[in-house]
Amino acid sequence: MTHIDWIKRAEGSNFEIRNFINGQFEPVAEIGAPHTVIHKYSPRDGNLLYSFSEGAKADIDKAVSDAREAFNDGRWRKLPLPKRAAVLNTLADLVEKHKEQFALYECLDVGKTITNALKDDIARTIGRLRRTASLAGQLMAPSGADLGCFAYQRRKPVGVVGGIAGWNYPLTLAVSQLAPALIMGNCLVLKPSEFTSLSAAHLAALAIEAGVPPGVFNVVHGAGHTVGSALAEHLDVDLLSFVGSSATGKKIMVSAGQSNMKRLLLECGGKSPYMVFDDCPDDLNFIAQDIVNNAFPNQGALCAAGTRLLLQDTIREKLLPLIVEKAAAIRPADPLNPNSTFGALVNETHINKVLNYIAAGISEGAELILGGQRVFPVGDESLKGGFYIEPTIFDNVAPTAKIAQEEIFGPVLSVLTFKDESEAIRIANNSSFGLAAYAATTNLARAQRLGEQINAGVLITMGDTNLSGGGVNIGSDKHRQSGFGFSGGLEGLASYSISTTVHVLT
Ligand code: NAD
Repeated sequence: MTHIDWIKRAEGSNFEIRNFINGQFEPVAEIGAPHTVIHKYSPRDGNLLYSFSEGAKADIDKAVSDAREAFNDGRWRKLPLPKRAAVLNTLADLVEKHKEQFALYECLDVGKTITNALKDDIARTIGRLRRTASLAGQLMAPSGADLGCFAYQRRKPVGVVGGIAGWNYPLTLAVSQLAPALIMGNCLVLKPSEFTSLSAAHLAALAIEAGVPPGVFNVVHGAGHTVGSALAEHLDVDLLSFVGSSATGKKIMVSAGQSNMKRLLLECGGKSPYMVFDDCPDDLNFIAQDIVNNAFPNQGALCAAGTRLLLQDTIREKLLPLIVEKAAAIRPADPLNPNSTFGALVNETHINKVLNYIAAGISEGAELILGGQRVFPVGDESLKGGFYIEPTIFDNVAPTAKIAQEEIFGPVLSVLTFKDESEAIRIANNSSFGLAAYAATTNLARAQRLGEQINAGVLITMGDTNLSGGGVNIGSDKHRQSGFGFSGGLEGLASYSISTTVHVLT
């Protein structure tokens, strides 16, 4: 589809946001307490995109109660695993069939480019559904004879799962909670981010078409302090899977502790270091491009983005100009243009937050060497109200500076310098986060030492320029305030289930 085709399709779309409970869209609640109105402004041009009446505690109560009934009567959990897997595969087929609609939703809601939405978000979503469907059969429970009796383990669903998601990959994050929850036989109540409400209920309707029974997957829209906290505090939610900031993750822990001690999976923020040693691969153009790709994906809104660049002093003079050159080539452009590679930020509040970090970087003495300005796509006055910002690079950033310590979640790269490996490790670990880390070195022994000593759930080392450094598995474990628990892989499936050991006394 061309740029004009996407614009026409966006203009002809109906953006009605409704809760999806027990297999159907709920009537729109009349606006007035407790149903306040949420206005969504388009990242692309700043105009009103849609408004909706947000859900309330009563909607969460209804969704949880319907999910509980669906769980108790066994309409889903009692289906044999291959049947549940087949339904997830059918859902993957349906997402594929509707990929243009989903890509449009993600593009308009988040501000990401339509091409990234199609190639990244939609592809990840479909892959996640299919991988989870095929993985569950491998979750074997051990059995054997012990202490004179026969013992075996049964793996059962946890019950009613609450899902609360952030805004940067709305569909992918919804599926990262839906797929493990459903394959293990649970029922789910999902609260998407109030900033990106378009795709989740559409997914829930397709889930029904794929064969998920009513009540098994429910969506309630609204803000965090109302609908989100009602879900986190609910006494009949057994497991809460959360993707969002560390600050909100801490509140979720309080809610869980003060209610029913529900289990928690917390996927929170990051400030991931990218270390470049002077024994990195010779192709510095390749390394520079990888650094840029890892610093500015999705306009910088990726939990695992490599936004703290640590350069060895012996290589920085050669490498830094290449990084700046490649980042300078990225121009914010209309997200609906298939040729655009960099779009807009999600909303006005977020762009102001990023601009405040840029101001803090300058006032703390870091050297602004690229970008730093709010802009709009050249030659397109109609997009003047959109939330665009240039890729930004600061050099000479102190390890303790705000822009080296706090998650900005926007296109801002902080460059720091180190002398040797031990200093690199010290700076890299000087963080309250521990999600991912990247290193460019051809020294295998060093890569192993970093794996041992760096506090991060994932370490990606670049020793061979034939390998790409991208593609972090966010299902990995995390350190410090990046959260805890797994939602990906076999360990993720285990998190969405409970094992019971049965002793058969003979
Ligand atoms: P956020 O914490 O502001 O919001 C996340 C979700 O929590 C939203 O749905 C929000 O409505 C809800 N919420 C807010 N307050 C709540 C409360 N008191 N009780 C219950 N729910 C509440 O985060 P965000 O800005 O939407 O997302 C960005 C953050 O998400 C970043 O920190 C990013 O690193 C993180 N993230 C992490 C991963 C990961 O896998 N580790 C993936 C994506 C995003």
